[in-house]
Amino acid sequence: MTKKQIVDIQNAILSWYEMYGRHELPWRKTTDIYKIAISEIMLQQTNVPKVIEKFKAFIARFPTVEMLAAAEQKDVIMMWQGLGYNRRAMYVHKMAQNIVDDYKGIFPRDSRALMTLYGIGPYTSRSILIFACNADSATWDVNIVRIMRRVYGDANISDARVEELCRTFLPKGKSRDWHNALMDFASLICTKRAPQCTACPLKKWCLSYPQPKDVVMVKKKEVGRRENGKHIPRRIYRGRIVEFLRYNAAGTVDEIGRAIKKDYCAKNDGGWCQDVLLKLEKEGILTCKHDKWML
Ligand code: SF4
Repeated sequence: MTKKQIVDIQNAILSWYEMYGRHELPWRKTTDIYKIAISEIMLQQTNVPKVIEKFKAFIARFPTVEMLAAAEQKDVIMMWQGLGYNRRAMYVHKMAQNIVDDYKGIFPRDSRALMTLYGIGPYTSRSILIFACNADSATWDVNIVRIMRRVYGDANISDARVEELCRTFLPKGKSRDWHNALMDFASLICTKRAPQCTACPLKKWCLSYPQPKDVVMVKKKEVGRRENGKHIPRRIYRGRIVEFLRYNAAGTVDEIGRAIKKDYCAKNDGGWCQDVLLKLEKEGILTCKHDKWML
C-alpha cells in the first residue's frame, strides 16, 4: 500500500470512530492509569457489555490503587462476581499491592516494568500505556489482526507481518483514538462472523471486499467433565466453586462437589473435584483448613 492509501485508511477509520464510536464506555472517559489497568484486565476475557457495570461498581468500591491494595482478597473476589476467570481478581489485588509497596502507589509508565506486575502481559501493558498516556505504540489482538488480514486479503499473513502493519498504520500522536477506533470497528463493522462490507468505510481499499474468505478456525474442545450427558468446561466448574464460596463461608470437597455438579457422585467425582480445588489453592484463590475449603 502507498503512503497516501495508508493515510486515507487512517482518516476513514478515525472519522468513522468520531461519528459511531462507543465514546460513552466508562473507561474511555478517564486517563487514570489505575482505572485503565483495571478495565484492561477485566476486558481480557470478558466482553464489553458485561464489563461496563462491573467496572463502575469495582471502581466505586476501590476508587484508588491504595484502597484496592488494602482490601481483603475475599472482598476483591466478591466484587469480581459475574466477570468469570476469578484468577484475575487475585491478580488485580496483587498488582495493586505491588504498585503500593514497590512503586509508592505510582504506576510505572514503562511497558517492561508493567509486565512484571501480576495479570499484565505484553498486550495489556501496551494497552494501558496507550489508553492512559496516549503512548505512540501499536498493539493488536485477534480483532485487530482480523482487520489487517482482511484489508490485505490474505488470511494467512504471518503474525510478524501483522505486527509490522499495525506499527505502520499507527497515526502518530493519536494512538488512544486509533486503537479505540479499531476495536469498535472490529466489533461493529468488520465483525468475525458477519462483516458489514457494503457499509464499510474501508471497502475502497479492502482486498477482501465484498466478502472476506477467512480461514475457518476449528475450535479445540476445552478440558472438562461430563454432567448429565453434556461436556462442561473446567473453567465453568472453577467459576461455580468460587461462586459457591462467595456465599458460603466454607465447604468440604463433597459439599462443594454437590453444589457445582448436578450429577455429582462422591465415588466418581470426588477425586476430580479435589484436583480442581487444589489447583485453585495453588493459584492462591482458595485456602483449605481442616478439610474445609474457603476463599
Ligand atoms: S470491506 Fe468487509 S472485510 Fe473489508 S474491512 Fe470492511 S468489513 Fe472488513
